[in-house]
Amino acid sequence: MSQETLFTKIINREIPADIVYEDELSLAFKDINPQAPFHVLIIPKKPIATINDIALDDRELVGHLYYVAKQLATEHGFSDEGYRVVMNCNENAGQTVFHIHLHMLAGKMLGWPPY
Ligand code: 5GP
Repeated sequence: MSQETLFTKIINREIPADIVYEDELSLAFKDINPQAPFHVLIIPKKPIATINDIALDDRELVGHLYYVAKQLATEHGFSDEGYRVVMNCNENAGQTVFHIHLHMLAGKMLGWPPY
């Protein structure tokens, strides 16, 4: 099964996105259907379909995504008031794009638990 999704097309600039951060390993861009005033998706450039597909060698890469979230929180002023970083896996969690991505949500009081 090909791991190419629309996120690969965003990485390759084949479809547009509002990109807020990029480095050699990752890309962050605004979610097209934001659930908070600040809602970005932080993705590895390497296509990994789900959390279940994360390999031993991917551990540093996945940790890097969290580091990018922290950097964005600092840059956009959310460090103290707080924010949420979450990754969905498969159907029961609502995963719709099969290229792993951290949702970073900020800018309002977020509900919990996420019914
Ligand atoms: P999931 O449901 O897989 O955890 O999250 C997928 C996210 O990708 C959703 O929040 C959805 O709004 C977002 N999304 C889907 N298609 C696009 C798109 O073409 N561009 C952008 N920027 N976000 C998208």
